[in-house]
Amino acid sequence: MRPIPYGRQSINDEDIKAVVDVLRSDWLTQGPAIERFELGIAEYVHAEHAVAVCNATAALHLACRALGLRPGDRIWTTPNTFVASANCGLYCGAQVDFVDIDPRTYNLCPQALSRKLEQAKRESKLPKIVIPVHFAGQPCDMEAIAELAGQYSFAVIEDASHAIGAVYRDSQVGACVYSDITVFSFHPVKIITTGEGGVATTNRADRAQNMALLRTHGITRDPKRMSGQAEGPWYYQQVDLGHNYRMTDLQAALGCSQLQRANEFVARRRMLADRYDHALASMPLRTPYQKGDRR
Ligand SMILES: *Cc1c(COP(=O)(O)O)cnc(C)c1O
Repeated sequence: MRPIPYGRQSINDEDIKAVVDVLRSDWLTQGPAIERFELGIAEYVHAEHAVAVCNATAALHLACRALGLRPGDRIWTTPNTFVASANCGLYCGAQVDFVDIDPRTYNLCPQALSRKLEQAKRESKLPKIVIPVHFAGQPCDMEAIAELAGQYSFAVIEDASHAIGAVYRDSQVGACVYSDITVFSFHPVKIITTGEGGVATTNRADRAQNMALLRTHGITRDPKRMSGQAEGPWYYQQVDLGHNYRMTDLQAALGCSQLQRANEFVARRRMLADRYDHALASMPLRTPYQKGDRR
């Protein structure tokens, strides 16, 4: 008997051609496929800006940095997630705490968040960032979370690693209608894949620029960001301590090609979920519950 695979990607001839075309081109990294992929994602999720990086863990880290997370600060996320949703806070020296889930959706519970915020306020231990995770692609109760964000002034990063193509009320997940930054993963087990890869979307140009700077060591060729004068066309400065979190053009080209089929992949997952719902309907168990105002 074959073991049930943890995930199985779908790669077609166009995907293969897209990667081979990059292999035959002048740019394996830092080339034109990156911007093409970023524009494609931004358009697909209706965000102003998208920053492509080597994986979603890096995107979460850069999102925390762009929102100014520092040692001594606090982030809260859900305990029902992958380790990266919490580790991004630890990378910045912040403390991590968890808000319990709604047992029906497995998503962060806004009532639990509200109670925990009330108590944290009394103890002066409010979080700087809250990271809801759209578990298995189902968007969290973003309106309630955004309302609390306004009331207690914390930032919101949506960990939408499982949720490209998801819709919450009238907005595409990634449009950042209820958050500051949204993060997607393109690991092969997610909706579309680049092998390894991630993207952060935002509607704030300054945060997008900041994440793009930190993605590539904190190095800039933009004279406006430098101290002193640029000394010729090859001149650059490191203006912050960044990372090498770049995505390659091979990955970005695969991502552009995969993005063409994103809706198809989402439709297939929904079809499979329906199949399980029906096949298991008479069993003494509860299949995942989906709220009516989101997909
Ligand atoms: C997969 C996943 C990540 C990390 O994604 P990588 O691209 O593998 O770094 C983060 N959060 C959640 C919820 C995930 O499922």
